[in-house]
Amino acid sequence: MEAPLFSSLIHDLETELRQDLPSSLMPLLRAPDIQPLPFPLFARHRVTVDVLRCDELHPVISGNKWFKLKFNLVQARRLGMTRLASFGGAWSNHLHALAFCARQMGLSCTGFVRGDELGVDANPMLQEAAEWGMSLQFLTRQAYRERRVTLDPQTWLVPEGGDNEQGVLGCMTLIPAPLAADYDAVLLPVGTGCTALGVRLALPEPTALWGVPVLRAETLQRDWMARLQQWSARWSEQQGGTVEWWTDCHHGGYGKVSPALLSFIRDFGDNTGLALEPVYGGKAMWGLCNRIRHHAIPAGSRVLFVHTGGLQGARGFQSITG
Ligand SMILES: *Cc1c(COP(=O)(O)O)cnc(C)c1O
Repeated sequence: MEAPLFSSLIHDLETELRQDLPSSLMPLLRAPDIQPLPFPLFARHRVTVDVLRCDELHPVISGNKWFKLKFNLVQARRLGMTRLASFGGAWSNHLHALAFCARQMGLSCTGFVRGDELGVDANPMLQEAAEWGMSLQFLTRQAYRERRVTLDPQTWLVPEGGDNEQGVLGCMTLIPAPLAADYDAVLLPVGTGCTALGVRLALPEPTALWGVPVLRAETLQRDWMARLQQWSARWSEQQGGTVEWWTDCHHGGYGKVSPALLSFIRDFGDNTGLALEPVYGGKAMWGLCNRIRHHAIPAGSRVLFVHTGGLQGARGFQSITG
């Protein structure tokens, strides 16, 4: 049997997605804007950086989360499911986006939240999700780890972070294809690695992928490379291409920050007008600036930075950090 083509599979999913999409989700169908990012450090080292504004696609749904969810919505409908469910932490951009999408699509939904000491009022992200009709179930850390939940058969379960086959396929559409070839490298923050996987599979071979893990995960890189190989073996259009992992940017782990990181983000925002949050995008941009400062990025390079959004989750961050 001939391997299926990504492009025809994705074309069919996109067509189905467009059928009966509520108008509140329509803005998400347009391609994200690309903007130049002028910053004195970049100019001094003759590195051109543009930013893909996934953060601006929609007032509620954060950047890359839509790309991971959209084909899950199609799949749920194909299977006649009436409920969506997923897992996440209390500040999860993913659960927040899922709750909004489910509401708009007229589906019920359940969010399994890590931490049985929490309640609906724990933070504004959860409050909003609950207002949109998400039923929240708070699990002990152990139950969460073991994914100890019962689901009725009408439920389409999306894994934590939206990291499944539909998520990867959706992320293959994140960078408008003809544009990607203009860049030597694409830079993006990595959580589960789902976004990075879809992006790498869709990038033209000469464009490198620079992934910045935002957490300490010793096995992430190895597991991710294995997944890339599995996808390549399964599909016929897979291209090769360079992947670099910048593992020195996590600042101690997921959600951890340093004063230097926070002041970098402030300074960068003041200089460029681009707001970044410290959990994802701030760490990726910090890594790039460090490398440029240390002459690790050749002069003349053209880099595309994917702004994955996350500023709504960062609301919590401000209340933690003051
Ligand atoms: C979830 C998220 C990511 C990480 O995406 P993965 O596909 O899990 O690697 C990056 N940036 C922001 C703002 C996010 O919310």
